[in-house]
Amino acid sequence: MGAKPKVAFFDFASCEGCQLQIANLEEEVIGLAELVDIVEFREILTGKAPEYDIAFIEGAITRDVDEKKIKDIRSRSKVLVALGQCAVSGGIPRLKNNNPSLDNVKKMVYGDKYNMPHLDTYPTKAVNEVVKVDLYLPGCPINNKEFLRFVKEISLGIMPKLPNYPVCVECKLKENECLFDLGQICLGPLARAGCDAICPSNGVPCEACRGTVDNPNKNAMHEILEKYNYTVEEIKRKINIFGVDPEVKK
Ligand code: SF4
Ligand code: SF4
Ligand code: SF4
Repeated sequence: MGAKPKVAFFDFASCEGCQLQIANLEEEVIGLAELVDIVEFREILTGKAPEYDIAFIEGAITRDVDEKKIKDIRSRSKVLVALGQCAVSGGIPRLKNNNPSLDNVKKMVYGDKYNMPHLDTYPTKAVNEVVKVDLYLPGCPINNKEFLRFVKEISLGIMPKLPNYPVCVECKLKENECLFDLGQICLGPLARAGCDAICPSNGVPCEACRGTVDNPNKNAMHEILEKYNYTVEEIKRKINIFGVDPEVKK
């Protein structure tokens, strides 16, 4: 990949919270700048570049014009990384696809102006539904330490791997009281770890914003649901919040 890889960041439909996580790295950004050459990053730079060794894509694809743009970026990128859950699975923007009519969605948001020509009825797509994605960095938002690890490993020619064990492991290591015992539904038994169980450690149930582990222990989850009197439907409703797509390759 050469001495100093050219790295670029692009955003599509998102809250830009994942890019903000990177901008918030503060002094660690200096170490990042020593490792890579950041050639495009709208939040902090004005420059443009013709091609990229690593392109980080934040956000879901929600318009025809985005589809053209992401295809162009892909054609000029050696490694393309889906950055954050909006890009990985469609995330929160994908919730609109649950509505049977995308015209209804436009009416709900724009009222009688819903027919404005720039508002199309394109369904929200994850990046890998439009172009080939080489790597997935999940989370809503991403974990910026994990982002740094990804950059270092890709720069060294190593394909980074995500933890493939559930959030419960990290939660138990922290000796937290289980939220099921406190009357809350938590997706920790299914969710992919790597966030240091930040939500349950602060009394907030996990919503699997990093997707699920490759082979979730469904039997264990059923036992928990039975023990605490919850239904599979209640879990499904929660797991759909982040549009977790079991087909997404991690
Ligand atoms: S994944 Fe979450 S934090 Fe990141 S851009 Fe999407 S909504 Fe924002
Ligand atoms: S609180 Fe959630 S993550 Fe923690 S042990 Fe209980 S189910 Fe697992
Ligand atoms: S605890 Fe769950 S919802 Fe919270 S950051 Fe980790 S994976 Fe996401």
